[in-house]
Amino acid sequence: MTRRGPSTELIHHPFRAPDGWDAVPVPVHKASTMLFKDTAQLNTPRTRDGISYRYGLPGTPTTYTLAARIATLEHAEHCVLTPSGLAAITLTSLAFLAPGDEVLLPDNAYGQNRHISNGLLRRLGIAHRFYDPLDVPAFEAMLSDRTKLVWLEAAGSVTLEFPDLIGLLRACRARGVRTALDNTWGAGLAFNAFDLLPDREPGFGADLSMQALTKYASGGADVLMGAVCTRDIALHRELVAMHENLGYGLGQNDVEAVLRGLPTIALRYRAQDAATRDLARWMQGRPEVARVFHPALPGSPGHEHWRALTTEAGCLFAALFKPAYAPARLDAFVDALTCFGIGYSWAGPMSLAVPHEMSRSRSLGLSWTAEEGGTLVRFAIGLEEVEDLRADLAQAFEVLSR
Ligand SMILES: *Cc1c(COP(=O)(O)O)cnc(C)c1O
Repeated sequence: MTRRGPSTELIHHPFRAPDGWDAVPVPVHKASTMLFKDTAQLNTPRTRDGISYRYGLPGTPTTYTLAARIATLEHAEHCVLTPSGLAAITLTSLAFLAPGDEVLLPDNAYGQNRHISNGLLRRLGIAHRFYDPLDVPAFEAMLSDRTKLVWLEAAGSVTLEFPDLIGLLRACRARGVRTALDNTWGAGLAFNAFDLLPDREPGFGADLSMQALTKYASGGADVLMGAVCTRDIALHRELVAMHENLGYGLGQNDVEAVLRGLPTIALRYRAQDAATRDLARWMQGRPEVARVFHPALPGSPGHEHWRALTTEAGCLFAALFKPAYAPARLDAFVDALTCFGIGYSWAGPMSLAVPHEMSRSRSLGLSWTAEEGGTLVRFAIGLEEVEDLRADLAQAFEVLSR
């Protein structure tokens, strides 16, 4: 056969590696173009729900493998992956809300979920209101025929109030209102979002569970990704349809990084949980600190709801400093830390500390804010040795009291 030009020979190269390669890592499949065997295959309509080998955008075998593993982690049946946790929130809200509807969010919802409700959703004619996640009767009174989606978060962002998840879900179920849980904190490990009362009421749980895989699933502080899981095929189909409309695609190297993080997720979660409790309790004993927010600490808001559901508590706590310590002094405290980075995202290897001015990110003034005042620092504990973290905090307290 005559040899064609070098580009043609290389692009149409006939070699195919033989079958039989089998290894622990999932192969990384990358594509925009999918090749059809012939035009007959090209003209065959898609079959399986959410899995389509026609174009690279919806996913590749690597993506679908990760989606199946996240569904298992979440005790779900179906999963769609998104380019970030925020993209998963937006996907869920757009899939299940239409003009004239109302969505309810907990007052301690993830900040960007508040933001899209105030901006994008409002512009589409979708109303929203915030509820106190610890006040079920007040929440029940807010449900109306317009309520088409309720967001839940356990524990809530920054201040980690643990909601009465069972009470809130019961109220939604009684009215047939769809529920979506931001399950980034629990990661599918702390509790089963779809089966919260397995002995008494099998299958009692949220309709949808969303996660920022950016956090625990990745574990590396290097990837942005999200997921929405469900047990209900009809809801999954709606998510897949909206996912296509939005044109969400994923970088396969990112998918590979999350596949690599998953085998250690439970070990990391528990190790970070143990170190976090240790440091949260130690912080409680510091004279500079008025209050520590951590769901496993008695007295932390919603502690009893946490205890009814799980024994696990992840890597976050927040310390409310006494009002005597002005925000500028707390900035100096955070700047003095050497084992803690200053930055967002969490559940990666490096511990983080961020001061939060809460008045800007709450609408209702959750019960504790009225009593106290003072500045809050949110800590995310990484994988460093806990004694090094404690020593670092102790030396920063010296700076604070100077
Ligand atoms: C980080 C986070 C998100 C968003 O994830 P990104 O991947 O950063 O967009 C959503 N919800 C919670 C609770 C988070 O902590």
